[in-house]
Amino acid sequence: MHIETLAIHSSHHPDPATGSVAPAIYLSTTFARRPDGELISNFSYSRSGNPNRTALEAAVAELEGGSAGFAYASGVGAIFSVLQTLKPGDHVIAPADVYHGTRDLLKEKAGWGLSVDFVDMDDIEKVAAAIRTDTRLLLVETPSNPMLRITDIRSVVRLARAAGARVAVDNTWPTPLFQRPLKLGADYVVHSSTKYFGGHSDVLGGVVVAALEDETTQKMREQQWTFGAVPSPFDCWLVRRGLMTMPVRLRAQAESAGKIARYLQSHPKVSQVHYPGLPDHPNYAVAAGQMEGFGAMLSFQLDGGEFAAVRTAAGLRLFTQATSLGAVESLVEHRYRVEGKTSRTPKDLLRVSVGLEHVDDLLADLEGALRKA
Ligand code: PLP
Repeated sequence: MHIETLAIHSSHHPDPATGSVAPAIYLSTTFARRPDGELISNFSYSRSGNPNRTALEAAVAELEGGSAGFAYASGVGAIFSVLQTLKPGDHVIAPADVYHGTRDLLKEKAGWGLSVDFVDMDDIEKVAAAIRTDTRLLLVETPSNPMLRITDIRSVVRLARAAGARVAVDNTWPTPLFQRPLKLGADYVVHSSTKYFGGHSDVLGGVVVAALEDETTQKMREQQWTFGAVPSPFDCWLVRRGLMTMPVRLRAQAESAGKIARYLQSHPKVSQVHYPGLPDHPNYAVAAGQMEGFGAMLSFQLDGGEFAAVRTAAGLRLFTQATSLGAVESLVEHRYRVEGKTSRTPKDLLRVSVGLEHVDDLLADLEGALRKA
């Protein structure tokens, strides 16, 4: 079945007891047993399992083509759970321009005994050179945040297999609509479901999907309730609801993003546009070979430097200046200022999350702000 159909019907059926078409929200923290002590259902206590969480996990696992899904209270929580399967002393390779929250997490874990190298993963030779005998995980983020660099997932998987390491791909930006890392050989997919899955800037969450049911997957399952960083039933319900319209929303948002990228590319005040759907993007061929679409995120740099970037963001009316991405409303952000002094992001760069407004209105808004910048 197609992703639009799965996004609606996976683990989503009318309630046999009431006929309710919309799923109920099971707020109960605990689940009753029969007089003999046997559980009535598969659920006993909500930290170890809850019907809303199970439905969400099963749906995301099916969309990604994996064996099991594990939902967390945030995307960073999901990435943390993958890192928790490693041992002190294990070596991890991550992208040099990885999402800064993931970078902070990896640095924190380095303090706990992981050793981490940040590498330009769009250059596969640099990835090959960084691999060591103790490398256990290659964490890929493609497109990367906020430079939209593309990593060749198939090549990373080939290198990882030869080294006995695993590959986790942060698939938050493309989602399974546009990219299926497990099909390309990755072991795990991680998501911030705060973004396109939820889609309405009103719920925080994360999901990991494992390709196979093996010892590490079992470890992850046990860790989920042992560490306890699980999302609430209502949050799971919201994300599961968001998932239903995700393919249709993201397809429309990506179409607008392509138009906006082409418009910005021809604008005299814009020095560079980062969008993998532009044929002159340095990794366009890799992107076209592993993505079904190029997503709704882009970034661009201005000739006038930091001042022009900040003025442009301030002059926009429809793009809200706010962190995060993937929702129905368009957002813009000066990442350097948000990331702080350790940021590697160019100071003249603005990152844009294209929403569901009419693209002509978004283009007019950009035109007005750039005129004044
Ligand atoms: N991964 C990517 C690519 C992100 O952009 C983000 C947040 O922006 C995260 C992970 C972290 O997600 P969360 O804020 O839900 O923890």
